[in-house]
Amino acid sequence: MEEITALLKQKGLKVTPQRLAILNFLMNTKEHPTAETIYKKLVSDFPTMSLATVYKTLEVLKETGLIQELNVGEGSFRYDAKTSPHPHLVCISCGKVEDMDENMFKDLLQEVQKYTDYKLVEQRLYFYGYCPACQKKMNN
Ligand code: ZN
Ligand code: MN
Repeated sequence: MEEITALLKQKGLKVTPQRLAILNFLMNTKEHPTAETIYKKLVSDFPTMSLATVYKTLEVLKETGLIQELNVGEGSFRYDAKTSPHPHLVCISCGKVEDMDENMFKDLLQEVQKYTDYKLVEQRLYFYGYCPACQKKMNN
């Protein structure tokens, strides 16, 4: 928690229990949760926290670059405390979102740059399919 407090301060943010809790939660999960999932996980510890507060806090954390917002093509965004650009795997059956090694495709942006007059600034890669657990269910 001290590390997270320092991170918030470093970004010039006021340290509030909600900001601490949400950033801590995101830094300790690999699940890429939605705002609703975060709210449901934290509301028992923070009964005064509202879903609106979670959204507002996520917006602030995103604007200061402490987290990134992912749009995997669902109705809601996912949130990730790993802010470096890295590819994701998305299960189209259970909705699981997993990280792929960030060194995979690291030259892709430069490669694509050769084929366009656009000045490329970032890439977002999502791969869609069925996770191992869902494949197993399908085969039963
Ligand atoms: Zn799945
Ligand atoms: Mn990720």
